[in-house]
Parts: sequence; structure tokens; C-alpha cells
Amino acid sequence: MVGIIDTHCHLYYENLYKEVDSVIRRAVDNGIEAFVVPGVDAETSLQALQLAEMYSMIYAAVGIHPNSNVQNLKLELEQVQNLLSHPKVVAIGEIGLDYYRNKENAKDQQQLLMLQLRMATEFRLPVILHNRNAIEDLFDCVLKWQDSIRPSQDHKELGVFHAFSEDVSWAKRIIQLGFSIGIGGTITYPNANKLQEVAKGIPIDRLVVETDAPFLPPQPYRGKRNEPSYLPIVLDKLSIVLNQDRKTLIEMTNQNSKILFGIN
Ligand SMILES: [Zn+2]
Repeated sequence: MVGIIDTHCHLYYENLYKEVDSVIRRAVDNGIEAFVVPGVDAETSLQALQLAEMYSMIYAAVGIHPNSNVQNLKLELEQVQNLLSHPKVVAIGEIGLDYYRNKENAKDQQQLLMLQLRMATEFRLPVILHNRNAIEDLFDCVLKWQDSIRPSQDHKELGVFHAFSEDVSWAKRIIQLGFSIGIGGTITYPNANKLQEVAKGIPIDRLVVETDAPFLPPQPYRGKRNEPSYLPIVLDKLSIVLNQDRKTLIEMTNQNSKILFGIN
């Protein structure tokens, strides 16, 4: 049977890692087939990869998050780059821009992002993008990347805008470039109209699901730690919003995720 793929979960954070065996078992019992674990700096990228080596259904993404307080950027980037040839590294991420937590260093964030986008080109990997209050600049960076570098790339899966929080017109512009949209627990919140419009407004082959565990739990678990076994709640909601039967939705998002990350 085809399972659900959690395209974004941080299983190395202590509150999940301390019982990672049972976290994974509960998820598998609830129909999760595979997990993509993105790092946020060199250390957590390595931890993600170690998890991927321990569990066949875990895949790693490596990268430096815009909010990571990196002391020696050159060294940190080198450490990340050294992991990129590993067969279980399926993406560069999570990378991006976050002006919510810090706007003062916007230029530095953009520079770090561009460096990592170029690594993605070099290693022919998709990217996992984080955005908070920075969609205009993030879109500009991605355009610049596409125009100047990306044409040398021979596959069209550019990556995913994870935990998408913008409106449907942004979603359409992003999809046009060749990106997917990652939707998680926030679609189950009572005020999720905007995100539900996004889900309805994009072609289903551009949709992937994620928990962002331990963050952003679905409605019944708000205020608690999130984990991949809660992902079926997101699919239940999507099934209602899209008026699409659950099984088809699981099959389609499963296939989308596998194409995006080159997973078999
Ligand atoms: Zn994340």
C-alpha cells in the first residue's frame, strides 16, 4: 500500500530524538512511508544524515537556515558541502529568508541563500525553502538564481516552498517557476481560509505534505509537540477541502514527493 510522505520533519531535535524509535514506529503505524529530515546548520545536517543512515525510510536534506547563528560561515558551508554527495541527501535545506525574527541582516541572509542555491545547481539537488515575511525578496532571489544559473540544470524539479503561508496568487507564481508547495498542520486551524484557497488553487501535482515536527502541530494537538504520526490529520483536512478521496490524495502526494526528491 502506498503511504504518506512527511516531506519536512526535524527528527533530530531533542524532544523527538530522545524517543525517535517510537516516533517512527507510531508514524509507520499511522501510514507514513518515508520522512525527509532537513538540517538547519552543519551540526543538525549531519544529525539528519545519521538518522538517514540508521533508518531506510529517512532521507536527509542539508543546509543552513537563515536564523541559524553561524559563527564561521565559510567553515560551516564547507561542512555542509562535504555531505552533499551522500546518496541519502535528497535536497539542500532548509534554506531561505526570515525577516520575522531578524530583518537587520537581510543582505547577509540573501547572500547565504544565493550561495546555497548555487550549491544546489552544482550538485543537481532540489531546495527546501523557508520563508517568513520575506516572500518578495525570496522570490527575487529565486528568479535571479533561475535566470543566471539554473538553465544548466537538466531536471525541472527546483524544490519546495515549505510551510507555505502566502496567498494563492503567490502560490501560482511560485509554481510557474517549477516549485512545489508544502502544506502542513496550519491548514487544520480555524482561520486557515487563505491556505485552503491555496490548496484549491494549485494543480494537485504541485502539492506535498509535511509536519514541520516538532513545530506547527495540527489543530487537535495545538500547544503540544508535533510528530509525523499526526500527518494523516492534514490529509483528512485536505481531502475535505479539495473534495478528493483520501487514498487518491495520498497516492498523488506520495508520487509528487518522490519525483521532487528523486526517491524510489
Ligand atoms: Zn523546518
